[in-house]
Amino acid sequence: MKINVALVLLTLSLPCMATVKIEEEVFVTGQRPEIVKELIDSGSVEVDHVSSEGFELYGSKGLKTYLDQKNIFYFDMKLMNKKMMADYPSYTQITTSLQELAQRYPKIMRLFSIGKTVKGRSLWMMKISDNVNLDEIEPEFKYISSMHGDEITGRELMINLIQEIGQKYGSDTEITNLINNTEIYVMPSMNPDGSELRQRANANGTDLNRNFPDILRDRDSTSIGREVENQAVMKFQAERHFALSANFHGGVIVANYPWDSTYDRHPLDAFVKELSIGYAELNPEMRNSSEFPLGVTNGADWYVVKGGMQDWSYFWHQDLQITVELSYAKWPSYHDIPDFYANNRDSLIFYMKQVHRGAGFKFAKTNAEGVVSITQISPEKKDFGNYAFSSSEFYKVMPEGKYRFSIKEKNGSVKDLEVEVRKDEIGSNGNFALLN
Ligand SMILES: [Zn+2]
Repeated sequence: MKINVALVLLTLSLPCMATVKIEEEVFVTGQRPEIVKELIDSGSVEVDHVSSEGFELYGSKGLKTYLDQKNIFYFDMKLMNKKMMADYPSYTQITTSLQELAQRYPKIMRLFSIGKTVKGRSLWMMKISDNVNLDEIEPEFKYISSMHGDEITGRELMINLIQEIGQKYGSDTEITNLINNTEIYVMPSMNPDGSELRQRANANGTDLNRNFPDILRDRDSTSIGREVENQAVMKFQAERHFALSANFHGGVIVANYPWDSTYDRHPLDAFVKELSIGYAELNPEMRNSSEFPLGVTNGADWYVVKGGMQDWSYFWHQDLQITVELSYAKWPSYHDIPDFYANNRDSLIFYMKQVHRGAGFKFAKTNAEGVVSITQISPEKKDFGNYAFSSSEFYKVMPEGKYRFSIKEKNGSVKDLEVEVRKDEIGSNGNFALLN
């Protein structure tokens, strides 16, 4: 069936806003890419998870009525989700599980809240590292899941991952080595209100993955006027030095790498694609995807997302981030979670280790800030860009090779440093140079 998109948008007469108020969630079957693109460009509805089967469509009240009038076939996703929710733990049960894990493994785990949701629920973050109460000189890594409340698989996988790390720390060499030399932060749910309501948006009806500063639209990374869940993540990110991260979704199975918001290639395009392939190839279902070659895709090539976390994270914080879609069903049967964990477990561990493909420096004094200019020396000589650093620390993941860092402090003092980035190696201090 052919849809007249201009008519759809006129009839809905939805105001064109930066943020779409989500009140109705549907899955439209079997539509064509050019229609999807026009819907995205209109800014009055949101389109997600485009596939040969169809696409998800989110909008304000009146969307379903319009689709009914036009005989456009869709499923109401809110009705679908409610039926499938029964066995999953509640927010309270997730909170208890996390508290118990932190109590059971106090040497390597510390649980804290980075803020509150619209409904006053805690946004839990688990820090996992040796000497967990110290801020050691180690690369910082994070996983954030389920900012779409109805995409639940990742939340459960994060709990499974934390459990396995707790159980195997001290006996499994790979895990022990990783935890001893990395500061890992895991946030199982960025949108617990949405998960409790069995919906994509937060309690205000806002899609949190369209509510970050946009790299083209926004001049700076200000949290003013954004949802409290976004504000909490933005504040937390600004206080740390994350170099690598991933965020988890559901609805399809693929690893998506930046950029999402522009067709331009990311400065680390080949590298971040390689990391994504690394994640996908350890996951049999992702690797064998019939939809996505090698189980990966560039974000914008799939569909454009404005105001997503992935682009914001690198553009403003040099925290290289990928978006992993974990399951075709957003709410798979709870009994299938162990299988999803089995399929993703090696990928999750592999990806965390990649934060050691990098180099950085830390000043002994506090509050050093300035700019570091990076030049790659080998395998080829090239300019690698200028990066601001603050609170005395800088660390960046990069392809293997030798690099020169020219560090210029705000006070005028200049230091040069040569570093080497190697693959498949967990450095005892994460390849940090200590500076006076
Ligand atoms: Zn999502």
